[in-house]
Order: sequence, then C-alpha cells, then structure tokens
Amino acid sequence: MRMTSGFIPTLRETPAEAEIPSHKLMLRAGFLRRAAAGIYTYLPLSHRVLMKIMQIIREEMNAAGGQEILLPIVQPAELWHATGRWVDYGEEMFRLKDRHGREFCLGPTHEEIITSLVQGEVSSYRQLPLLLYQIQNKYRDEIRPRFGIMRGREFIMKDLYSFDVDQRGLDESYQKMYQAYSNVFARCGLETKAVLADSGAIGGSLTHEFVVLADCGEAIIVYCANCDYAANVEKAECRPLPREDGEPMPLEKVSTPGQKTIEQVASFLGIAPARLIKTLLYKSDDEVIAALVRGDHELNEVKLARIVGTLQLAPADEETILRVTGAPAGYCGPVGLQNVRLIVDHAVAALVNGVAGANEEDAHLLNVNMGRDYEPDLVTDIRLVKAGDPCPKCGTALLGARGIEVGQIFQLGTKYSEALRAYYLDEKGEQKPIVMGCYGIGVTRTMASIIEQHHDEHGIIWPMSVAPFHVHIVSLGDKELALAEELYEQLTSSGVEVLLDDRDERPGVKFKDADLIGIPIRITIGAKSLAEGKVELKLRSGEWEGKLAPDEVCGKVRELIASKGA
Ligand SMILES: [Zn+2]
Repeated sequence: MRMTSGFIPTLRETPAEAEIPSHKLMLRAGFLRRAAAGIYTYLPLSHRVLMKIMQIIREEMNAAGGQEILLPIVQPAELWHATGRWVDYGEEMFRLKDRHGREFCLGPTHEEIITSLVQGEVSSYRQLPLLLYQIQNKYRDEIRPRFGIMRGREFIMKDLYSFDVDQRGLDESYQKMYQAYSNVFARCGLETKAVLADSGAIGGSLTHEFVVLADCGEAIIVYCANCDYAANVEKAECRPLPREDGEPMPLEKVSTPGQKTIEQVASFLGIAPARLIKTLLYKSDDEVIAALVRGDHELNEVKLARIVGTLQLAPADEETILRVTGAPAGYCGPVGLQNVRLIVDHAVAALVNGVAGANEEDAHLLNVNMGRDYEPDLVTDIRLVKAGDPCPKCGTALLGARGIEVGQIFQLGTKYSEALRAYYLDEKGEQKPIVMGCYGIGVTRTMASIIEQHHDEHGIIWPMSVAPFHVHIVSLGDKELALAEELYEQLTSSGVEVLLDDRDERPGVKFKDADLIGIPIRITIGAKSLAEGKVELKLRSGEWEGKLAPDEVCGKVRELIASKGA
C-alpha cells in the first residue's frame, strides 16, 4: 500500500477521549475511530491486524478439531427465556422488537442459539464430540464502556462450543482448548497467564481466564511463585485459619458514641482492626443475609453471591438495616440478629473474644465468640484474597498483578443442554444430556492488548505475526523514490507486505509516523546512504539495524520475517 493512496489518517495530538496507551496509539496512528460510546470503526491498518489475529485463531481452532460456522446476531427471546437468562442478563442485553411485536436480542453470547441448533441436529453418541466455532460481533450494553475497544459495547469475539457425551469427553475438549488458547496468544506475541476464574452468570464449574499482564487491566489476579496456582481474586481461595488460643471472656457492652467505621472503632477502643468483626448486610430476593468478615479483610461479593445462589445480591438499604438490627448502619453485629441468614468467614470463626456492633446505636460488644454468642448458618470462605496471603496449594505468599482478560474457557456441563433439551442416545439407547463447554477469545481486545504489551513512547511495536505490514519503506526525497518503488515492487511480488511512504513530507514527519504505526521492519532510502550505494534497514523493536546494498534487501527482509515467526 502506498501512503499517498492509503486511508491512514494519523493525528499529531492525542484525542482527549483516550485514557490508556492502546487506545491513544490506535487513534493517533489511524487505526480506529469512535462512532458512539463503546462502538468503533476499524480502519484499514487495524482491519489488517484483526484479519491476522483471526487467521491465527482459525488455524489453532481447526487444528484442535473445530469447525467454523456463523450464527445469527439477532436471536429470539424464547431461547433466552428457556435458560432464564432473558432476565439474568439484565440491562447489559440489547433488546429489540420486530414489526409483529416479537422480542429479540442482539447476541451478547451464543450458548442458547448453538445449543438449540445442536438439539435439532444431534441425536446419537455417534455424532459426538462436536466442536463448533464462529468469529463475529457481540453486543453488550456496558454501563461504562471505556478504554476504547478494551471494553466496548460492540466487539468481535471468537466463540467455540464443545459437545461431548460425558465429563471425560468434556475434560479432553477443555484440555485441547487450553492448549489451543496458549498457542493463539503466544503466536500473537502475547505473554499471558491462565488463571482460575469465577464462572459468574454463564454457569458451570471449571473455568480459566487467559490474562495479559498490564497495569491498565481491570482483572486483578494472584499467583504463586512457588507452585502453579494462579487465580482471579474473585475466585482465589483463602485457607481456613486455626482457632485462636485463649479462653472466652464474658460478653461486655461498651459505649462507642459516633464510632462507626472499622478504623474509628479500632482506634477508639485501642485495638487492631483484625480483632473486629465486620457485619455486612445484603438483600437477595426476600432474604436478608449477614456476611461476617474480619475487620482487616474485605468481603468477596462474588463468592458470597455464589454461596447464596443468586445473581442479584445488593447491599441492604438503611431502612432494612434499621428494621433488622434495630440500629443504624455502623453498629450491626451477629449477636441477637433474628430472621437473617448468617454466613461467617473462616477468619471470623477462628476469632476468640472478637469485637462486634451491638445492634444498638453508639454501642459495641467485646468478647464476642461464635457458638456461645451467636450461631452461624454457614462457616465458609467469603473473603477477598490479597497479595501476601498464603497460597491455598502450598502456603507461599501470593503475588498480585493486574491484567486484561483476553480469553476464557468454561466447563458448562449440562446447564444449557438440559434447559434446551439437547439430549442424545448412548450406546445402550439411553437418553442423556449433552455435556458442554464454551471457549471465548476477545479478538478486538486481543489487538488492544498486543499494543499494551508492545509499545514505547513513540508508538506501537507490532510483533511480526500480527503487524499490518511487514515492511515500511520510507523514501526521503524525489530522487530516492525511484529506488523505493523498485524495492516496493520487488518485495510485494515476493509475498512481503509493504507500506510505502511516498508522500511529499519532511523526513521528520515520515519517521514520526513510521514509529507511531509500528511496522516491524523499516527501510530508509536517503541521499546520504545511497551515495555509498546502501539503504538502511532497521527493526522497530531496536533489536537489529544495518546498511545493505539494494539487491541484498529482499533476502534480508525474508530472513527477518522468517526469524520472527511470520
Ligand atoms: Zn503455591
């Protein structure tokens, strides 16, 4: 492509809407334009990158036995009613009605529609296993679309669904996808970590996220440097603590006027926050839940919601708190609480002589002991893990990091096949539900993540495998243009993808744009080196540079491309 005829609108300034490096660079380098909040147009350069990422994904999915299909974006509401997700998906779902008043949604995901397809077509174990996938748009009406295409409302995703006869088959499919995902991200030049995650609204049991470590990431993970344990904090387990030593002392009420927060009460009473019991009230349907965590710990709402078995867990309002405890917020405690489901974290259960709210304004209780002063409905792990906590597998202190979730694989089991009656007959003629898995890669998000891991202060540094072009030829003047055109033709005809800067611009402008766009190999043709009969070759990554005679260029370029695995 010649820049004089290419549609590559680079910008000198960073638009104010951009917050993170990938978003800024894609706007400035002419890859992307915003159409509406969270909705983007992909210009030629990013389209080329997306096509390459998709090609890598296709090759790996096909190698793992996947077959590509294309499912509809517009999906009938009935299928979503059958699994309960028409309601569960809530405000995130884009909904619409046709002219007859029938309800549809724009697919936020495709479990329902593909399960329904397989339900209609598969009836025997002989037709299984089956791995079907597609690459297309997804729609989610995010509350806060942000970070450009990192969290958009319309985005491109690869989703594969596996259909097996039993759990063993699912385990095999899952393992294949785990390996295929590792291959995809490695080939895209990404360093990822596979972490245990929570399955959330999608349901199912085992699930891993593939996370690109990056400071701008919204996923918070913990991992162990000693063993292979790695998990999203929402999922990460905390080890139960042994019960503290010491004898329970008599319960004692103390006055704590105006002291509501953990910090206030701890400092007022001159004790460590770890001695306090934090009582957090939640509403779920008609039930009130009291979650107890230690004063220095945070509650993990995802864990709590999973234990309660709801997707609609909301903190109790002031009125509910007053009605249930008889006191305003800040003075709740487990002693004497009625008609509340009491869920206690391991660390609170281990406390001897803890301190809790007295369910009375301006008062707390000292020497609160579980079993004697209150009875839990359940003692379990409901706290948020943090860096420094012991690894649940080996006990080593966990490390923390932020990252971008670029892929997730799920073992769904039979949730969707049972809801949508996708059964098969086994060898004995017995009817059984198909066992499913689903596996997603955010394609547009993968592109943004590659930039997050590969850029410097001047611009993007594309890995060869996904670069929009392999070579950027910068011609510095009219006299040099003839040779530039010659090399352009030569390289292009040997299968090399070349962007030729043939514009009538100052060298400074051309170099700035070349750094910004970030094509891996740059060939500079200027009067100075040409006087020696040479052109300059250099890698955008800074790993190599040199001067070559024009007739050596083609060979060297092909060698560089091959050595970078593209
Ligand atoms: Zn460990």
